[in-house]
Amino acid sequence: MNDSSETTVTDGIPAGSLRSFAVETRGDAFSNELKDRIIGELTAKNMVYLDKGRPDLVISVGGDGTLLQAFHKYFYCLGQTAFVGVHTGHLGFYADWTADEVDDLTASVTSKQCNIVAYPLLNVRISYKHQDRVRSYLALNECTIRSGEGLLVADVLIRGEKFESFRGDGLCFSTPTGSTAYNKGLSGAIIHPSLPTVQLTEIASINNRVFRTIGSPLILPRHHHCQVRPVNDDRFNVTVDHLSTLHADVKQMECCVATEKIRFARFRPLPFWRRVRDAFIG
Ligand code: NAD
Repeated sequence: MNDSSETTVTDGIPAGSLRSFAVETRGDAFSNELKDRIIGELTAKNMVYLDKGRPDLVISVGGDGTLLQAFHKYFYCLGQTAFVGVHTGHLGFYADWTADEVDDLTASVTSKQCNIVAYPLLNVRISYKHQDRVRSYLALNECTIRSGEGLLVADVLIRGEKFESFRGDGLCFSTPTGSTAYNKGLSGAIIHPSLPTVQLTEIASINNRVFRTIGSPLILPRHHHCQVRPVNDDRFNVTVDHLSTLHADVKQMECCVATEKIRFARFRPLPFWRRVRDAFIG
């Protein structure tokens, strides 16, 4: 381990072990140009370019949203694929290499030992009143729940025991790395990704003499699953990172720390608190 703050480092990969790669871009001309350059440089060094399948490395070129898209595209091979992000706009939280550093990055990929850091994800399971199936999602940042229309009125349970009745705009469940995204805008805490937790924050809850919620973010450990059950309207508007879907006939939505993790390739140290400082303090 070369960085004491990245306590989630799981293993070191010797130089030359990353043999195949994919590149995902935001789609703008500059990001696409960088993509072509990366493909040219890595294939010249005998790495195999894969457009799909199970690449050892996925390089995202764009912003945090591009990395989120890449994560959802390659969710089926998280155990063997590592991610790295290049930002072509402002400094990204996941996209930490600059466009100017692309040559350094491609040289590092082929010639440097890299560390893999594994960060927790959020598991979301939605079950339905009149259907047997359960839909499962993995989130890298967060999942939010709003009502199909108007106010969200729902019971919140922790480990199957009723905790509160919620009335308000919605609820947000975030991962530690997602704690600096929407969660931060909801005054949630910033959580170090070495802590396998899920954070629950409220989106504009109603609190008065009749309705009461806890009003503080809750940080749940791995074994404390949280359930949300609709009270009247059984339609939930659910976002998982940048993706949004409407679910009808909802019986329950359950959120917990996922068993899967996302793996990032680190070719140089990137302490979490430095990233937080650089992104928000400057
Ligand atoms: P996007 O790529 O434009 O991202 C929106 C902003 O969120 C960007 O500035 C991005 O850098 C930042 N961001 C994303 N993940 C982050 C992280 N883990 N830590 C710090 N900043 C992060 O748009 P998109 O592709 O639709 O991104 C979806 C994400 O946008 C959601 O996962 C959510 O976290 C975020 N979002 C934030 C707010 C808010 O803060 N009020 C509202 C809606 C969505």
